[in-house]
Amino acid sequence: MKLAKTVGANCFFALMLFSAAATELAQEPARSGSPEKAPEDQSKMQTKKFGLVIHGGAGTIDRSNMTPEREREYRAGLERALAAGYEILKRGGSSLDATEAAVRVLEDDPHFNAGKGAVFTSAGTNELDAAIMDGKTLKAGTVAAINGVELLRDQKYFYTQERWDALQKIKTAEKHRTGRAGKVFVITDQDRHGTVGAVALDQNGDLAAATSTGGTTNKRPGRVGDSPVIGAGTYANNATCAVSATGDGEYFIRATVAHDVSALMEYRGMSLNEAAQTVLEKVAKLGGTGGLIAIDRQGNIALPFNTSGMYRGYVDPNGKLVVEIYK
Ligand code: ASP
Repeated sequence: MKLAKTVGANCFFALMLFSAAATELAQEPARSGSPEKAPEDQSKMQTKKFGLVIHGGAGTIDRSNMTPEREREYRAGLERALAAGYEILKRGGSSLDATEAAVRVLEDDPHFNAGKGAVFTSAGTNELDAAIMDGKTLKAGTVAAINGVELLRDQKYFYTQERWDALQKIKTAEKHRTGRAGKVFVITDQDRHGTVGAVALDQNGDLAAATSTGGTTNKRPGRVGDSPVIGAGTYANNATCAVSATGDGEYFIRATVAHDVSALMEYRGMSLNEAAQTVLEKVAKLGGTGGLIAIDRQGNIALPFNTSGMYRGYVDPNGKLVVEIYK
């Protein structure tokens, strides 16, 4: 992903089967003097599974607050990201490259809270968190609370009027607030959220996960969310699954969400879907909201969330790009 690489880091509800997305003839070693392939050899066609799932943040996403035009823009952004990652997987590229490519597209899209369009801190700055993890080697690269200067980007690149207005709304509300401190729900979750992420399985059977975010509006400078914390917002392990989460970061860290999904599969033998649901329930019990995307080594996917919507997408077994927003 762009953020991670720039700083030198190297780094469900439905259960669906990704299969037959690509087929290729099994490479039988040629036997000398063997006849032409008999028809039955065709049955040795080998199916290579691969898959890609992305998210653009979970939160209160109501149809009533969404204009058709805005919805089209969100959907188009998600489709572009899916297409970028899928293209790489289709031609045999790595899951690491595919997740990076998908996340890059969403980082450059001002609708999402990552890269351009990132939310503002209470100091009016943008601080970005991101992580990418390779399930084959368990190597990971993460960056936290970095800003435009470190990224050699003009701070203006990240600016969008909408995110700035969201910060002003919350600040005004804070000024007029009396009583105990707590969450200020003056701006909608739509203003707050929009973290992006991708998980993929490639034709070699390798898994990868990537997550990128501006965090939460009005966060304290230096605050680090779950996205760059390996095992909380991001995790990938070829033995189990790849996970990218979105939601109230503090809760996702405390529930070690991404690693817990993997651990339930590894130690309890749970299915991906069961593990993902179980962990999200744990987050909800703590009081956290959000969702996650996950893919396992067989290509099963899970996209659970406990909010009214989550920007999300996946590629179906026929190679069709599917984008969904609401519950
Ligand atoms: N999880 C992100 C954070 O807490 C925010 C989000 O996903 O909306 O930084």
